[in-house]
Amino acid sequence: MKAHDAMYIGGQWRPAVGQDTIAVVNPADEQVIGHVPAGTAEDVDAAVRAARDAFPGWAATAPAERAARIAALRDVLVARKDEIAETVTAELGAPLGFSQAVHAAVPILVAGSYAELAATYSFEEKVGNSTVLLEPVGVVGAITPWNYPLHQIVAKVAPALAAGCTVVLKPAEDTPLTAQLFAEAVEEAGVPAGVFNLVTGLGPVAGQALAEHEGVDLVSFTGSTAVGRRIGATAGAAVKRVALELGGKSANVILPGADLAKAVNVGVANVMGNSGQTCSAWTRMLVHEDQYDEAVATAVAAVAKYTVGDRVGPLVNAKQQARVRGYIEKGVEEGARLVAGGPDAPLGTGYYVAPTVFADVTPEMAIAQEEIFGPVVSILKYADEDEALRIANGTVYGLAGAVWAADDAQAVAFARRMDTGQVDINGGRFNPLAPFGGYKQSGVGRELGSHGLSEYLQTKSLQF
Ligand code: NAD
Repeated sequence: MKAHDAMYIGGQWRPAVGQDTIAVVNPADEQVIGHVPAGTAEDVDAAVRAARDAFPGWAATAPAERAARIAALRDVLVARKDEIAETVTAELGAPLGFSQAVHAAVPILVAGSYAELAATYSFEEKVGNSTVLLEPVGVVGAITPWNYPLHQIVAKVAPALAAGCTVVLKPAEDTPLTAQLFAEAVEEAGVPAGVFNLVTGLGPVAGQALAEHEGVDLVSFTGSTAVGRRIGATAGAAVKRVALELGGKSANVILPGADLAKAVNVGVANVMGNSGQTCSAWTRMLVHEDQYDEAVATAVAAVAKYTVGDRVGPLVNAKQQARVRGYIEKGVEEGARLVAGGPDAPLGTGYYVAPTVFADVTPEMAIAQEEIFGPVVSILKYADEDEALRIANGTVYGLAGAVWAADDAQAVAFARRMDTGQVDINGGRFNPLAPFGGYKQSGVGRELGSHGLSEYLQTKSLQF
């Protein structure tokens, strides 16, 4: 797709107030592939005004009509899925097959689920002598990251529209072309002017202006814990609703009796997908001491299949590449045993990092505590289930995880004791209706399904 030199505000593609632009770089070859406007506080203000103006009309629209518009949006995403996959590959660097199977396909499922939920959700409940009205919160400021550029947008915009909210989106500066494509899709779907608005720009400029704007009723943010903390503090000071989807350090717990080869292979694949740039990635593999050596050997064989450039794409930018290579160096310094990959850049051009596996990782090491956001698996050893649980729960995060056992009941019993928002049982399959979000410092609020929809609603009780 071609980059727009304009932003989508109030149903029109308008030039930014300022002249500054952001260069979009293909991380696989480091070439500039386009420029987009660097929006400022003035552009954000124009977009928030447009969203405010559109709010009463959209909030009053029948749920069936909102459902029809979201269904139309889903249909446009289906019709343009090849273009979406190519755009994500161009600006994020993900291999085209992964972009098709995940980056383009998952948002279609999510948009479809919200078309259905908008039509079937009860926006009114009876409780004793009261009627509870579930009303849209108002104008949503959505701030999204680059790691799943379209999914992160759809996971916020679809439920917001289903609820009757209007939206101003500030997407990540690394992946604005996918956001522009999404804005085209919204326009094509016949969503009324001002209901969805797009301001591209830098986080500390456009993002911060959006988070601080008085005309925004709810800020929904996905990204780093550092920025999330600030946005939460700003929202708290303004007594404004906030949803935060932050980092993770998820545990892949392999209990004795599980299918070890499958658990290790799926575990490695889970981290290598999207070059490890997944907040829910199972970056800590927990293995019983009796099976440890076999698991390490299996992981080394599994990771060898992930050829750089072909199955594992680059990281999104030079900063992320340097950060991940720094963590690999730190792991070596801390005494973990490097059994695959390493800190050296595997290719001369492109922001690649070698698929890396560390054995003999202990729970207090930085590579076992901090979010690396790269293709790095840490394998830890435990002696019994209680120790496995202590390690699994022993980080500040609690976003996702996995448990593998001889049967589902045993895995579920362990999963119930985990401090985390989502657990895959013996593999698991993606469900767009299942709530996703963090315990502890992984965030506040939930995305997806009816729980995700309720984030965009507020209640009003009528007593009779
Ligand atoms: P980030 O938090 O800086 O960026 C996320 C979004 O927030 C972007 O749209 C950015 O423009 C915006 N932003 C940045 N500063 C802002 C501010 N002061 N006010 C308002 N908005 C602001 O994340 P990053 O630098 O792109 O990535 C750094 C790390 O964050 C990664 O290494 C990873 O650990 C984590 N991360 C997590 C997720 C996730 O899905 N949870 C996604 C991306 C990154």
